[in-house]
Amino acid sequence: MTRLLLAAALLVVPSLVTAQQPTPSRADTLRGSNTPERAWWDVAFYDLHVRLSPADSTISGVTRIDYRVLAASRALQVDLQAPLVIDSVVQGGRALAVRRDGNAHFVALAAPQPVGSRQSVSVFYHGRPRVALNAPWDGGVVWTRDSLGTPWIATAVQGLGASAWWPNKDIQSDEPDSQRVAITVPPPLVNVSNGRLRSARANGDGTTTYEWFVQSPINNYDVAINAGRYAHFSDSYQGEGGLLTLDYWPLAYHEAAARRQFAQVKPMLACFERWLGPFPWYADGYKLVETPHLGMEHQSAVAYGNRYENGYLGRDLSGTGEGLGWDFIIVHESAHEWFGNSLTTADIADMWVHESFTAYAENLFVECRSGREAGARYVIGTRSSVRNDRPVVGVFGVHREGSGDMYYKGANMLHTIRQLVGDDERWRGMLRGMNATFRHQVVTGRQVREYLTAQSGVDLAPVFAQYLETTRIPVLEYMATEDGLRYRWTNVVPGFAMPVRVRLGAAGERLLRPTEAWRTEAVPLRGAGVQVDENYYVTARRVP
Ligand SMILES: [Zn+2]
Repeated sequence: MTRLLLAAALLVVPSLVTAQQPTPSRADTLRGSNTPERAWWDVAFYDLHVRLSPADSTISGVTRIDYRVLAASRALQVDLQAPLVIDSVVQGGRALAVRRDGNAHFVALAAPQPVGSRQSVSVFYHGRPRVALNAPWDGGVVWTRDSLGTPWIATAVQGLGASAWWPNKDIQSDEPDSQRVAITVPPPLVNVSNGRLRSARANGDGTTTYEWFVQSPINNYDVAINAGRYAHFSDSYQGEGGLLTLDYWPLAYHEAAARRQFAQVKPMLACFERWLGPFPWYADGYKLVETPHLGMEHQSAVAYGNRYENGYLGRDLSGTGEGLGWDFIIVHESAHEWFGNSLTTADIADMWVHESFTAYAENLFVECRSGREAGARYVIGTRSSVRNDRPVVGVFGVHREGSGDMYYKGANMLHTIRQLVGDDERWRGMLRGMNATFRHQVVTGRQVREYLTAQSGVDLAPVFAQYLETTRIPVLEYMATEDGLRYRWTNVVPGFAMPVRVRLGAAGERLLRPTEAWRTEAVPLRGAGVQVDENYYVTARRVP
């Protein structure tokens, strides 16, 4: 999720001024790069225990980090954002010295860390975590109440970072193999986190500890607290990976609405499994959890706050009507289970892989529902929100994502590539193959580009470069001459030679193969001119 409000806001305010990008700071580098104090250890397991105090919006807890030693080192970087405070860091029963540099904490190791060994370190902490100003876009912890006055608490930290509420190695490139999330809450709250509920233990002080366990690698911003007065109902889905459990956690007074709205889940899963391959988390199950914010792709516990309405808060982001018959948040956030959660990029500069494919999956869902033409109408309609303000790829190593165009410009790039592949079964095989090849892995955007190029048999390198690295949309320039139609690409990166399908009035459809140099097609061009197939995300211009 996240930046979609930008896209939606654009429908209302098309002339938003782009914020200047600040020069990366030392803090950005500590946050966004695989520093020497991070690179030598590989997270195996996070054992997270947190106690919530809604009365004063504070938390306290401990993360035990189990890790494999990849190389010798004397210092270990743990991230925890102010104003939270580390109380102590303990290894082998000894408290270790900690030096703080902003939100990075460098732990001086006392015991030897033999390469190949497995070690663990426990980080005890407490404080009043950053309150979300406008979750999920401006995230943190949401402390609110439901309409009956019961406390309702949720985390939403994509972009901001998991270290806003728990200590961890806060970079996307290292996921644990599995994770425990044990959250202690006062009555009458129930906490729903990721994976499966192992126990709900009543403590002597009246609180209850909900112990959830994720059996699969999970990216840290997906780990979530959702504490409220929830109802729970279950279902199951017979899918490609066997029997998938479906668990739903609406607020208690929304159960009837949830039973109606969440009926959309099974046809969605059928569609996505057909196009993308098996749901990635049969071991951990599929869940929807109602949240006080709009939504987020929290792995195996998708956050849902779309008010049990269809569309995106009742609106259609495509402006075509094709987005109104289904629940945007269920569909978009669930698609992230494939793109973002199973396949995760190492650096958020490549966040386009998460959002472009997920936004693209929306039109696949429309196609499953209403046919191929409807799906195309939807994705083409979303071009209205593209700003071309800055490149879709962000800045590497400094925790900086690219333009919000990573959603619908990215989706339209993929829709264009589908035309280049020119064979829907092959294209579907590529999407399924990509998910199978990178299942439960951390990847780079370059790997994804190279995979699709290899599988398509089309030189996609200039296509990716054009749409991801520049803000320019290709222009097909053409003129009518005595020899026929002359045409070329302009406004493109060097070597851009994408074929494009056009309609030439009475002369019918042609596949042109323009380059940056003028070419001539021996076909008369009368009256109508050149109409580019709008499935290609390009423009055309007649020159005198
Ligand atoms: Zn998204």
